[in-house]
Amino acid sequence: MSEIASSSTTKIKRLPEKARTDVKTLHAVLDAGIVAHVGVVDHGQPIVIPVGYARDHNTLLIHGSSASRLFKLLDSGAPACVTVTLLDGLVLARSLFESSINYRCVMVFGTATRLKGQAEVDALKVVTEHLVPGRWDDARQPTAKELKATMTLSLSLEESSVKISEGPPEDLDEDLESDAGKAIWAGHIPIFEQLGVPIPDQFVPNGTPIPDYMRTWKR
Ligand SMILES: Cc1cc2nc3c(=O)[nH]c(=O)nc-3n(C[C@H](O)[C@H](O)[C@H](O)COP(=O)(O)OP(=O)(O)OC[C@H]3O[C@@H](n4cnc5c(N)ncnc54)[C@H](O)[C@@H]3O)c2cc1C
Repeated sequence: MSEIASSSTTKIKRLPEKARTDVKTLHAVLDAGIVAHVGVVDHGQPIVIPVGYARDHNTLLIHGSSASRLFKLLDSGAPACVTVTLLDGLVLARSLFESSINYRCVMVFGTATRLKGQAEVDALKVVTEHLVPGRWDDARQPTAKELKATMTLSLSLEESSVKISEGPPEDLDEDLESDAGKAIWAGHIPIFEQLGVPIPDQFVPNGTPIPDYMRTWKR
């Protein structure tokens, strides 16, 4: 499968030139993100909750407390809309109207499936390794009690859309040609995500080196 299947829900209508339909880009955006916003309707009230996530093949994995309202709703079959947004820049056009934000954004629609037993443990490993590759083998593994307190869900990427906004502003000809427009600075300011140097907590003995998998890893 190399193209995302389009549906009436996922077809991008507003600024369709920003749509991307290849699965490779869908996966690349999801692999670059850390936080997903999960939207569901609870008794008529829309709620949107941010969670960590990871992609596994053509599914999105999330986990949380078994007691969480969001996870209980999703487990009961509530339809969900999940959004992952990566901020890439501020776009400063000559006019305020054309000023905008550069981004890579994915929206996924569907219902979640609860993972249990080994499938859940495998999924938790994927989520952990997505955040810091190498961490799963270094940290203590979850106990049966901790797994019971955790709900792990998967959501198919079958019904999803990708929208990407990039590059410089697109000003109106009249703003590019007028003296007033020419006097205004325009362009874009890139936004980069950057991880700082790891800081040990007070229980790490002095002089303990930062593990290689963390020291050498760059997102
Ligand atoms: C960081 C950021 C800032 C933005 N700021 C603004 C803003 O200030 N004002 C504004 O009007 N819009 C903004 N957008 C764009 C906004 O997300 C919508 O794409 C746009 O408002 C059109 O909405 P619509 O409901 O008319 O889309 P439609 O094109 O009608 O939506 C149809 C389908 O297209 C898909 N889709 C729509 N938007 C997205 C998306 N962003 N990513 C992936 N799939 C999508 C979904 O599957 C949706 O169901 C921003 C987007 C991002 C990521």
